[in-house]
Amino acid sequence: MPEFVFVPPATPSVAIAGSEQRFPVRRIYCVGRNYSDHVREMGSDPKEPPVFFTKPADAIVASGTAVPYPPRTENFHYEVELVVAIGGSGRNISAARALDRVFGYAVGNDLTRRDLQGAAKKKGAPWDTGKAFDASAPIGAIRPASLGHVERGPIWLKVNGETKQQADLSEMIWSVPDIIAELSTLFELRAGDLIYTGTPAGVGPLKPGDRLECGIDGLETLTNTIVATVTK
Ligand code: MN
Repeated sequence: MPEFVFVPPATPSVAIAGSEQRFPVRRIYCVGRNYSDHVREMGSDPKEPPVFFTKPADAIVASGTAVPYPPRTENFHYEVELVVAIGGSGRNISAARALDRVFGYAVGNDLTRRDLQGAAKKKGAPWDTGKAFDASAPIGAIRPASLGHVERGPIWLKVNGETKQQADLSEMIWSVPDIIAELSTLFELRAGDLIYTGTPAGVGPLKPGDRLECGIDGLETLTNTIVATVTK
């Protein structure tokens, strides 16, 4: 063991449904523009292929945990998404073999500072300030793929009990195998990687006090409340 100058941060990890063991997070990849209706509501062209971006591994937030309203935004948005947890490694993985690398599935929320993302898009600048901020990646418990893969079925999000997003996973432009195949041509995938697979239409703003419920049939519902940021 090297002698570190300070105690290294703990490995971020996610609960696994029905297990005491946890899933250690290595990287978080995200797919943007993966549902046509959402691409249109963002003013983009659904004929353009989806895009990838990333978040830091320590941006994850567990279900049942409060999410601080982030600084430097006046348009903080929710985005419910299917999350794929990777359990094997590989480069140039074929779509036909892609599901072999899946450890499991969870419900996630790709929280977004939409005003900062919009400003970055206009300038052709990176999306990091809009997407990769602290506590920007809530995720529920992972259901192991040994219980079945998740390819279709309802995906929905409620704010204070009111339905805001409702779609079907089969509407994804890139399916889970397509995403793994494409992403693994750009990066070597490793066990511990999470992939947020994109959000359907209906995204909108949050405010302190809001209660979020995010669901996909068969997976643990992800619940979080938004709390006002403590300024020091
Ligand atoms: Mn998203």
